[in-house]
Amino acid sequence: MKAIIAVSLFFFSFMSIGATNDGYPTQEQVDSELRKLSLRFPKQMKLESIGKSVQGREIWVVRLHDHSSKNPDLRLALIAGVHGDEIVGRELLMRLLSDILEGQKKDGLLKQLLQQREIILVPCFNPDGCENKTRTNAQGFDLNRAFPDFTIDGPDNSQDGRPPEVVAWMKFQKENPIAFSLSYHGGEIPTVNYPWDNSPEKFPEQSLARAMALEYAGLNPTMRANKQFPGGAAHGNSWYAIQGGMQDWSLFFHKNLQLTVEVSLLEWPPYETIAEFYRQNQASMLNFLLTH
Ligand SMILES: [Zn+2]
Repeated sequence: MKAIIAVSLFFFSFMSIGATNDGYPTQEQVDSELRKLSLRFPKQMKLESIGKSVQGREIWVVRLHDHSSKNPDLRLALIAGVHGDEIVGRELLMRLLSDILEGQKKDGLLKQLLQQREIILVPCFNPDGCENKTRTNAQGFDLNRAFPDFTIDGPDNSQDGRPPEVVAWMKFQKENPIAFSLSYHGGEIPTVNYPWDNSPEKFPEQSLARAMALEYAGLNPTMRANKQFPGGAAHGNSWYAIQGGMQDWSLFFHKNLQLTVEVSLLEWPPYETIAEFYRQNQASMLNFLLTH
């Protein structure tokens, strides 16, 4: 779907009252906001728990689609909080969710988006980490090192022995093919990272992946000014190699082309700065949804 980013949206500020965690909402407050939105917009939003974290918190998946129209022709996903203490992504996704739901009431492009696509939002993949301000899940697993990796496991996409958050997503992804996705992280110079992380080998869609990374970064003023990676796009393996990451797993096992968005230099920046982070990422996020 080709479109321009002249989308008029409400900026809908919420969840700032009674929050803890240095001003950030608790996971309970995030859950309650998700429930409220799903009740207000039953035709466009379905809230689904794909499983529970180690400490028993729901792992929420938001499905956005106009359920009165035909089945979506493509599914896109935005995921945050794989590292629980990299909190900016969760806040961006909650604001985006609210803006899409409010905006589609009068914006033709957003209405059309929800008729033709299913958008999956995972505000916090690692809810124990988002609540306890930890990178890992409550068992100490780094969830972005815990997926099957073709350089270690070959073609074996087994769920055995993996943390519950990873297993929940592996099951969901298996049943819900995703074409393109973004995974939000923080604590690095703002950059969009593209596969592979685990190997210097090229893959057929690598130039597309790089173009998508440059496109996201190009609409974000901080990323655009990145001096370490001109244009704000970095090839994962050339930057730093990791194994067991969600990005490589998504592409290798499910042909889901995922980019990793390093959205903020600080992992847990002052809450007051979130509005500015959203302002800087809003066009990139909408462009990603509207042009694929
Ligand atoms: Zn991270």
